[in-house]
Amino acid sequence: MSLVVQKYGGTSVGSVERIQAVAQRVTKIARTGNSLVVVVSAMGKTTDSLVKLAQAISPHPCRREMDMLLSTGEQVTIALLSMALQELGQPAISLTGAQVGIVTEAHHSRARILNIQTQRISRHLNEGKVVVVAGFQGISSTNELEITTLGRGGSDTSAVALAASLGASRCEIYTDVPGILTTDPRLVPDAQLMDEITSDEMLELASLGAKVLHPRAVEIARNYGLPLVVLSSWTDEPGTFVVSPAPQPRSLEGMEISQSVTAVEFDNNQGKVALLRVPDYPGVAAQLFGEIARQELDVDLIIQSIHESNTNDIAFTVNSGILKRAEAVAEAIAPVFRSQPTANPQEAEVMVDRHIAKVSIAGAGMIGRPGIAAEMFTALATAGVNIQMISTSEVKVSCVIDSQDCDQAIAALCQAFKVASSPIHLLAAGEAKDTAVSIAKFQPAVRGVALDLNQARLAIRFVPDRPGMAARVFGLLAERNISVDMIIQSQRCRVVKGFPTRDIAFTVSQVDAEAAQMALQELAPILGCGEILLNREIAKVSIVGAGMVGQPGVAAQMFAALAEHQINIQMITTSEIKISCVVDQDQGVMALQVIHQAFGLAGNKKIQVPA
Ligand code: ADP
Ligand code: ASP
Ligand code: MG
Repeated sequence: MSLVVQKYGGTSVGSVERIQAVAQRVTKIARTGNSLVVVVSAMGKTTDSLVKLAQAISPHPCRREMDMLLSTGEQVTIALLSMALQELGQPAISLTGAQVGIVTEAHHSRARILNIQTQRISRHLNEGKVVVVAGFQGISSTNELEITTLGRGGSDTSAVALAASLGASRCEIYTDVPGILTTDPRLVPDAQLMDEITSDEMLELASLGAKVLHPRAVEIARNYGLPLVVLSSWTDEPGTFVVSPAPQPRSLEGMEISQSVTAVEFDNNQGKVALLRVPDYPGVAAQLFGEIARQELDVDLIIQSIHESNTNDIAFTVNSGILKRAEAVAEAIAPVFRSQPTANPQEAEVMVDRHIAKVSIAGAGMIGRPGIAAEMFTALATAGVNIQMISTSEVKVSCVIDSQDCDQAIAALCQAFKVASSPIHLLAAGEAKDTAVSIAKFQPAVRGVALDLNQARLAIRFVPDRPGMAARVFGLLAERNISVDMIIQSQRCRVVKGFPTRDIAFTVSQVDAEAAQMALQELAPILGCGEILLNREIAKVSIVGAGMVGQPGVAAQMFAALAEHQINIQMITTSEIKISCVVDQDQGVMALQVIHQAFGLAGNKKIQVPA
């Protein structure tokens, strides 16, 4: 007999008939002798309707009252499902987050789980009852016992956290699609089901817009090595397994807040090539990285920053061993990007930095916690280290610095985050190809594609180029509880009033755009920066796959697909296992479709998507 935690999402419990169907499924499993905890969401689009109700009364309702309101949605479902189970003769009891003892931080609307007091659930399970729990909600640990919610989509996180706390054999997430697909089937009808995906890949996909799983649920499953599976509420198909590495022993106390950073990684054997002032039209990145791929050169980070007077800067890093060849490719291609052969050599200028190091902090616990990147930048600034490039993903922040500063930077970061450092494993030249092939055998270069239409881009012009600037900018945003997504610092250095400056651009969630703009407008005069630009009309399209490590040409293929369809790339950032591009919002869905097609992810098995 084993203990299983199941979660049913909004569509799966969207009507009386669907609740009854869930009750049938649950009863069937309970009768095979398994203990069952069932977590449910609010029925159908109830949470959206509640949000609309609140907005009809107040444009900016206070978060506490929003939690009070939104948490009611789940409470309806637990009672109805319990009744449906009892009607089938299956003993069951419904419990709210507070009754279960899901203890969270006191932050309304995005609370993190601290611990779950499982005694009451265990007692009811021992009595032979199915325990039906309201997802998405908890209770704060302060004396006031405030009702909190975990953030939209948070019922997945409730389920996985319960499974980890109860030592369940697995957590099953039942939803309205057959499992995790190569992309959103509502946007790309020929998306295909995958049998499995690694938790690292799923973390990236979930935080890049694939809403099939809440990223924090993936984080908890990964931290505790919990078997997690996503499957359809309508069929008996096996769904998709999220595969986690063997877990390190870890306390259940402070479940979502302890150890946000688990490693400091470094690679001090890199060089950087930048192409400055290349024209801002579709196809430039495709041409450059197409040529690099033809030479079989493996690129690590790629960054393209905001454009200014119709030109972009594109920079990338490579292992020192191939820097000369990468530089030669850039030099050979640069004239192609000049307006005329005799044009000013400043157009498409190649800039090479032979001795750089990449230092990164990594850890799933940094998701949605704006202070972590800022803490990294502060630690580097305090150690007197200037940051040349920043590249972020949800689970990693990498900074390119002068290689001379590497030791100091590592020491500062290890101290700040209380972790040990480790070099990033670099493949030797001969080893690279074989290993890439063997990795590719098991892991496709691109596992899935995601689109995020809810982001806005901000840019600060002319930020003084000295240690501490990124720390100030992102420290202030963190103070205001604004999570920053991709951060890009331009390569181009502009001298303003005798001081070198750079532009810094980043993306935030649309709802935070105004607050971020206001914060920066306050800060800019203090730091001596230029104007703040805001663009809400963007889309971010990303590819994710562990198999892209050590496999040249993946970025080139993505850029080529976009270029072929005349889609201009505004920004690029990468991590080891993902590449994200910002494009015009109007072109977002098309970008997703053409990239999905380009990587051969499309198939002919029709995925049913309920309305
Ligand atoms: P639930 O209410 O069950 O939690 P969600 O609406 O939160 O369901 O998540 C399921 C939806 O996620 C699907 O209907 C689909 O439109 C969307 N989705 C986005 N990306 C993916 C993906 N890669 N795989 C599967 N579904 C996806
Ligand atoms: N009902 C909540 C929402 O719609 C939580 C969830 O369904 O996961 O966001
Ligand atoms: Mg969901």
